[in-house]
Amino acid sequence: MATQTGLPLFVLGQDTDPHSEKGVDCPGELPAASDPGLVERARKAKEALGDRLFVLGHHYQRDEVIQFADVTGDSFKLAQQAAARPEAEYIVFCGVHFMAESADILTGDAQKVILPDLAAGCSMADMATFDQVEEAWEILEDAGIADTVVPVTYMNSSADIKAFCGRHGGTVCTSSNAKRALEWAFEQGEKVLFLPDQHLGRNTAVLEMGLSLEDCLVYNPHRPPSAEELRRAKIILWKGHCSVHGRFTADSVDDVRRRIPGVNVLVHPECKHEVVLKADHVGSTEYIIKKLAEAPAGSKWAVGTELNLVKRLGQMFPDKSVSFLDKTVCYCSTMNRIDLPHLVWALESLVLGEVVNQITVDADTTHWAKVALDRMLALP
Ligand code: SF4
Repeated sequence: MATQTGLPLFVLGQDTDPHSEKGVDCPGELPAASDPGLVERARKAKEALGDRLFVLGHHYQRDEVIQFADVTGDSFKLAQQAAARPEAEYIVFCGVHFMAESADILTGDAQKVILPDLAAGCSMADMATFDQVEEAWEILEDAGIADTVVPVTYMNSSADIKAFCGRHGGTVCTSSNAKRALEWAFEQGEKVLFLPDQHLGRNTAVLEMGLSLEDCLVYNPHRPPSAEELRRAKIILWKGHCSVHGRFTADSVDDVRRRIPGVNVLVHPECKHEVVLKADHVGSTEYIIKKLAEAPAGSKWAVGTELNLVKRLGQMFPDKSVSFLDKTVCYCSTMNRIDLPHLVWALESLVLGEVVNQITVDADTTHWAKVALDRMLALP
């Protein structure tokens, strides 16, 4: 099925588009979600696989899945952890598709990376497809500025886009090192093409690097800017966003301050610029966890990030008041695709010697994505 924009649009869990982060079917015979023995089945399968198995759990995963993770973290920390376990034959990645791709890129050839549900994609990563980015680069060439532009992609992008950045002298960044990556990029060239999250790009450029909002140009792949606009811009921000963090508004901040006097507002830099401007603290997922761990007992916090994590933080720090920034529920629906039935199915299949839902990145893409990732690791 194709939309007017040419982007495929599949119902989650049905049909297949190998070039998309979403809409890939899961053909397995899943156990029923109502099966009361699921926890025990997962525990037994894990025990049977022993050191051959390493389970990674992203912070935004459900509690029912996180309880089986050998390590929890953000996407880059998890990929590094996978690479540090060469003895693990199977890496079961409880996260989303681009994260499993990064793990496959960074782990050895003998290691198999498994995503329990292939429909666990990322809507932000899907907002920058390889063909769209190639077309954008041609537009920059026609405008006569491609030689001066350094592409930087957020970790939350497909392996294709990371490889594109590797081939064109660019790098990858996380929400923790975006400032350093942009500083590096501006040393290599005059302009930056920032993919795919316009908010992280804008927040970093304006709040941490002293660029003005006028220096930032949004690149809409469906209606590209003029050559003149591209020549004027310092940073070209791909028109992508996180559908979870993009829901928070400036009104959410005003409202929570009215409801909870003395509250500290702590948000992720994937939030919109006007939300970040109104917050007290801004930082990556790891920063948010650290900030709450260090906060004094009795302090009050409203946190603008994914709800599974915010709920868990409330349980981890019962001596502090931890609230969700918005009044409406805000889970990441694709992260939530990984549930206990999918995890049990993936683990029990491995026990039977059947590798299901393996994520593999081809050799050329792996090579160039690794070039971009290695540039990030070498950042000062
Ligand atoms: S929280 Fe946002 S960026 Fe993260 S996986 Fe979900 S849609 Fe993608």
